[in-house]
Amino acid sequence: MERLSARRWRLDRAPASAWAAGALAVLLLLFAFASNASVTLLVLLAAAIAFWAGREARRFVIGSARTDENIEFVGLAELAPLLEALPDPALLIDANTRIVSSNAAARRQMQFEARGQYLTSILRHPDVLEAVQEAVRDGATRAVEYEQTAQVERHTRCYVAPVTWGPDRAAMLVFHDQTARISTERMRADFLANASHELRTPLASLSLLIETIAGPARDNAEDRDRFLKMMQVQAERMRRLIADLLSLSRIELDEHVPPSDRADLCVVVREVVDMMGAVARERGVELVLAGAEAPLNVVGERFQLAQVAQNLVDNAIKYTPSGGVVRIEVGVGGDREDVVAKAGRRWEEAGRVAILTPAAVANRSYAYIRVEDAGPGIAKRFLPRLAERFFRVERELGDERGGTGLGLAIVKHIINRHRGGFLVESQPGRGSAFAAYVEVAGED
Ligand code: ADP
Repeated sequence: MERLSARRWRLDRAPASAWAAGALAVLLLLFAFASNASVTLLVLLAAAIAFWAGREARRFVIGSARTDENIEFVGLAELAPLLEALPDPALLIDANTRIVSSNAAARRQMQFEARGQYLTSILRHPDVLEAVQEAVRDGATRAVEYEQTAQVERHTRCYVAPVTWGPDRAAMLVFHDQTARISTERMRADFLANASHELRTPLASLSLLIETIAGPARDNAEDRDRFLKMMQVQAERMRRLIADLLSLSRIELDEHVPPSDRADLCVVVREVVDMMGAVARERGVELVLAGAEAPLNVVGERFQLAQVAQNLVDNAIKYTPSGGVVRIEVGVGGDREDVVAKAGRRWEEAGRVAILTPAAVANRSYAYIRVEDAGPGIAKRFLPRLAERFFRVERELGDERGGTGLGLAIVKHIINRHRGGFLVESQPGRGSAFAAYVEVAGED
């Protein structure tokens, strides 16, 4: 960047001290000529004071960023609204790395109060400090990316540019938040890597089985049948993976648009329980439904609410041993705190996690579905990760079999679209209970 120079300074912007010093110099001159005192000495003194007053006035002027003929210099007071108008945090730092000016975004995000503080008291990243030194010393402009991991991970790009303030060089710092962009990129990359890995596993099994049937097992009818059944399982796994992935991306597509339809939660849940009855019987598990008698209208999309109930009941059946009972309950829970207490806090010794909590809204009441199983339960340390895509407790424990790991992610995104909540409480040895709640529809 070109060096900036102060070419014109304005008397109307001189500080009070410069005015006082100037006046004192004039008085001294008058006194020198009117009295018999040593004229030369007094004239020299007056000249020195006048020179100092001039310097003071110049120091108070900041050069503009332009070097053509029409340069208009602006004072610090005029620069402040400019900083203030920037949406990103911005700081002006003097040659001694002290904060000369800042905007509201900077004060809020960096949590500091007074100007005059040293930059190092709010930011210590060595690359940024080095860029500030370079801006002040060599007039260099730089962009520095850095990461902070204090409470939450935050990625920032800091633009550092030199500005000239009277005889001193200063630096302007503008901070641009990169966190959302970087985490979206990381999520997309992770998702693609995970999805292809998940599909590759059954595909590799299928290829191996085909080779075996075509080769060593070609003439053995019994082996052939066994391998064909195994192929069927792998193909079914791939079908489910693709169906779940498509379902998830469809849900995400309109997750930002809350549903405006009405659905009777009792009817939805009753239909799902009826539909799952055959699977439960086959596994020797009893389904017990409670509280689904009276109509219970909620704000929601019927098909998506059925998907929620189906995923939760399906998991509960899968993890409950033969002879066990899965309890499904539908009910009205009151406001956000009431519904959490009613649907999500029943077992004293259980570990508990709110996977999703809606924003607090006055006068809103919620209806819930709670699905309770008699399975092995889930260790506390796994609870916060349950709704992550592809997360499976079994795999963490070294068992590669199991479902797609997408069912609870689907539930979470549907409930998020419905601006509702999703909780789990689980106690190893006793079982797990998942509860989802959505807004009760008003009378209209
Ligand atoms: P999956 O298709 O693997 O069931 P989910 O997203 O529905 O995928 O569940 C993720 C993981 O959470 C499961 O793999 C399992 O480890 C655990 N899990 C879910 N529901 C239960 C449950 N009722 N009891 C025990 N573990 C469960």
